Amino acid sequence: MGLGRSGLAAAAYLKRRGAQVVVSESQPQDKVDAKHLTELSKLGVEAEFGNHSDRALSTAEIILTSPGIKPKSDVITRARAFKKEVISDVELAFREIGAQVPFIAITGTNGKSTTTALISHILEKSGRIAPACGNIGVPILSLLDGPPLDFLVVEVSSYQLEYCTTFAPQIGVWLNLTPDHLDWHGGLDPYIAAKRSMFSRMSVENFAVYNFDDPVVAATPTAAEVFPFSQMPDGQEQMQGAYVNDGFLCYNYNARSRVVCHINDLRIIGHHNIENALAAISATCLSGLSQKEIETHLRTFKALEHRLEYVDTVDGVEFYNDSKATNTDSTIKALQSFPEKSMVLIAGGKDKGTPLEDLVRYIRKHAQAVILVGEAKDRFETALRSEKYEEVYPVASMEEAVRLGGTMKKGPVVLSPACASFDMFKDFEDRGRVFKDLVRQRAREVASAR
Ligand code: ADP
Repeated sequence: MGLGRSGLAAAAYLKRRGAQVVVSESQPQDKVDAKHLTELSKLGVEAEFGNHSDRALSTAEIILTSPGIKPKSDVITRARAFKKEVISDVELAFREIGAQVPFIAITGTNGKSTTTALISHILEKSGRIAPACGNIGVPILSLLDGPPLDFLVVEVSSYQLEYCTTFAPQIGVWLNLTPDHLDWHGGLDPYIAAKRSMFSRMSVENFAVYNFDDPVVAATPTAAEVFPFSQMPDGQEQMQGAYVNDGFLCYNYNARSRVVCHINDLRIIGHHNIENALAAISATCLSGLSQKEIETHLRTFKALEHRLEYVDTVDGVEFYNDSKATNTDSTIKALQSFPEKSMVLIAGGKDKGTPLEDLVRYIRKHAQAVILVGEAKDRFETALRSEKYEEVYPVASMEEAVRLGGTMKKGPVVLSPACASFDMFKDFEDRGRVFKDLVRQRAREVASAR
């Protein structure tokens, strides 16, 4: 059900395996991405559009669902009434090759993509075949018929976990939990339960890597061998796990403590990325890598595009693209990644109407100035000025924002909008790329003026 990228990969995989496939898509055919339709016709499988028919639901042996479909939706209720098993692609992949290939599964509210990419980067640079897949954009089933794998590093969302029944990775990583996607799951408890289910299925041969500093995560029951990570300075080195000691990232495994590197050696910045680095150190040491391998390749990992991504230094001013920050929480993370009163924030976009008190508090602490763009600029300006924050500069375009940020020379200029992008851009990726192009254009102008 659902003809997205993962749906197509699932249809292709199942067809290759000799299954009889019916693709069922709720959108009418003319609303579906043309590229997907072309791919589908090449596969030569049956497809229906505009609704999920009773015939498709009732005759299927297994229903593989896109994670976009809510568990309480009408179609899932109907499928269950037909006594059908409804699973996600991760569950199917695990059933197919879980006995041969170790899965490293990363979940959490925030930081999944970064940590997934980081773990895959360290393993692959160390010579292992360990592609990143899942929610990060590469459908897991597209990798099953490729070259032999040493590991599958899979980003799993709570949506995918909701449709898993046996999935128990060799190494399960849980980064954090904050209220999110509550509407999709039908409340906070089902959201926590979806995340916890993975750990509750894991057994003594598996490893549970989890954030010791997050009370909900740390209280998760599991039969797996635990490998906690923590940023707290209290005696972590005594127990198995990963920790920070005097600014150094360390781990204790097989009753030996090892230092990996200093947090300043990382190319990803901010407190939240220390959490992601600790999780990656944990997963990679449990995968059998040496301290040297982990250190060498942890140091070379650069931020994913649009996530506090360093762009360039122009005329002495650093520019960062954090366009993925589409809510106030993410922008607060970006603000906290810079010293107090050190940076210039570019914010605004399509307003989500969320309260701004916390954001304003962190802006007051960390930002020397705020440049505002997009639909949200008036509300943001009012919120800032009502708290006596006067360094506010509304502008008409991203181009003006980049120029102003560069000429102010008050510190690094960070695009971290706290808003969606749809007022001025196609999506957050488009916004981030436009920003980067403008920074590069500015670099050329500055260079030619010299
Ligand atoms: P996800 O895949 O879970 O959405 P990403 O790695 O794409 O996570 O990061 C998205 C945003 O979440 C980042 O720009 C940053 O603001 C924030 N973030 C990243 N890692 C963490 C973390 N460990 N804890 C809290 N926030 C984080």
